[in-house]
Amino acid sequence: MIFMVISTVTGMIGVSTGFRSGAPTGMAKSVIPADLMQIFLKAQEKYDVSWAVLAAVCKVETDFGRNMSTSSAGAMGFMQFMPATWQQYKQDGDGDGVYDPENPWDAIFAAANMLKADGYKDNPSQALYCYNHAWWYVNKVLTIASSFSDTMVPTGNGAWPVPGYITISSPFTLSRLHPILGYKRPHEGIDIDAPTGTPVIAAVSGKVKLAKPNGGYGNCIEITGDFCMNIYGHLSGYAVHAGDYVSQGQVIGYVGSTGLSTGPHLHFGVYVNNSPCNPEEWLRIPSANY
Ligand SMILES: [Zn+2]
Repeated sequence: MIFMVISTVTGMIGVSTGFRSGAPTGMAKSVIPADLMQIFLKAQEKYDVSWAVLAAVCKVETDFGRNMSTSSAGAMGFMQFMPATWQQYKQDGDGDGVYDPENPWDAIFAAANMLKADGYKDNPSQALYCYNHAWWYVNKVLTIASSFSDTMVPTGNGAWPVPGYITISSPFTLSRLHPILGYKRPHEGIDIDAPTGTPVIAAVSGKVKLAKPNGGYGNCIEITGDFCMNIYGHLSGYAVHAGDYVSQGQVIGYVGSTGLSTGPHLHFGVYVNNSPCNPEEWLRIPSANY
């Protein structure tokens, strides 16, 4: 019994800690050399930094080692470290006793080591900014990363969609017993309890793809942002129309209990490359579970 409890807890931590990415997409398989893929995955295991983000950094820096010439600024090797930074974060990824910035194991592990040290786990975007001080660079890396993996890519930095209400009555899970349907199916988002009429804000900026009743989601809004699609379900009313552009933080609708719902709440879902992600990870903000 004790073993069961421990393994369950460990399993949950494995799923929800840090920003690890899930399975590679078809795009990732076609673009990332197979011998490098195992290195990115091992680095994720060791440093808790998304393999997809490491692969995207590698793609941007050297096109997977195809262009390792030293940059005009002096950056060198497989992941384009500046010499001083290499000295600070270098790793011996392949364990041959040599720290070689042109060796993919050493360089990719060093990059993961540096991102981890720069607080990747709490703020992936900021850690990437430390890697290369430009927000266009951060956005480019995260965009490529989100094409490499369906899940757990920290592209969001979203806003909490129901300000003032943090109780998650139903978390993201790949299998839950549906309260009305009575059978198990994935819950592709989180349910946030709030009274009917509470304003719902846009978690990220984007274009309103849909603002109308949508099956079990009841009155529903879908917004397509730069890296993801967000869904807001069970609304009592709308503050936007399909085709509108909305800014992060703008009121888009109001909490309700329309569709398949047992009480007023917001169903909030995040999709990257059409696959559901855990909004709690993606939003990178504390919830009632903390
Ligand atoms: Zn829900």
